[in-house]
Amino acid sequence: MAERHVLGLSGGKDSAALAIFMRETYPELDIEYFFTDTGKELPEVYAFLNKLEGFLGKPILKLNPHRGFDFWLKEYNHFLPSPQTRWCTRQLKLLPFELWVRPMLADGDTVYSYVAIRADEEYRTGYSSTNNNLIIKLPFREKGINKEGVRNILENSGVGWPEYYKWRSRSGCTFCFFQKKIEWIGLLEKHPDEFQKAKEYEKLAIDHGSPFTWIQGEPLSELEKPERIAQIKDEFQKRLQKEKKKKPVNPLLPEIEIIEIDDLYYDDEGAGSCNICHK
Ligand code: SF4
Repeated sequence: MAERHVLGLSGGKDSAALAIFMRETYPELDIEYFFTDTGKELPEVYAFLNKLEGFLGKPILKLNPHRGFDFWLKEYNHFLPSPQTRWCTRQLKLLPFELWVRPMLADGDTVYSYVAIRADEEYRTGYSSTNNNLIIKLPFREKGINKEGVRNILENSGVGWPEYYKWRSRSGCTFCFFQKKIEWIGLLEKHPDEFQKAKEYEKLAIDHGSPFTWIQGEPLSELEKPERIAQIKDEFQKRLQKEKKKKPVNPLLPEIEIIEIDDLYYDDEGAGSCNICHK
């Protein structure tokens, strides 16, 4: 019987900052870092994880689902995952984690799982453990580390931000339905092949009678029209300028403005996302 310490990386900023924080604050802990790889990740996510591995000085274990996105999509009759039917998180994120820790728990080990929920996210809950030997720890909440704290950790460590933050504020699958419209346009412009794939998945879903498109009420074939793109970009700029006016200018911040797109759209397009996939 042993104690195991595990920390899941999503490819996003909060979990990366947590890994750095734990490495620096508790160097005596032998933490096993893992990433549940859906096989539908942006190349920028892998590049960021590689950079993080360099800082941590140890490999990040990739937990691949036994069966990938395409298998499950077919199982669900080509219905796209959606906030109402989130089969993707269950099959591609939670199940691989559970299968990985199950033998540890069966051996009687105590597993501490560190989750990057920040002190300023009172409303968020993480994975609920049903096993007394799987203990969920929230170090940022315990130590009062908020969004600004995360920013400092990333910058001071030299790891910095994932490259995709210039156009998208969340990690997770390339096609994630939690993306805002402006992020879909980012995908179209940065990774047009992936956008085309997303359109194909959507067409297949509609052909199979799915009520869900990636964005509810607006298929990607409509979103990609030039006049619609211009409209969405214009709307985004207005929100961005309004947000900037609210914030004091900090000359110490890096040149690249880190945009939390979720913060700009909290009042519509849904503010939801997923702690398991996006932290
Ligand atoms: S990132 Fe989005 S699409 Fe991927 S598993 Fe999570 S909720 Fe589903």
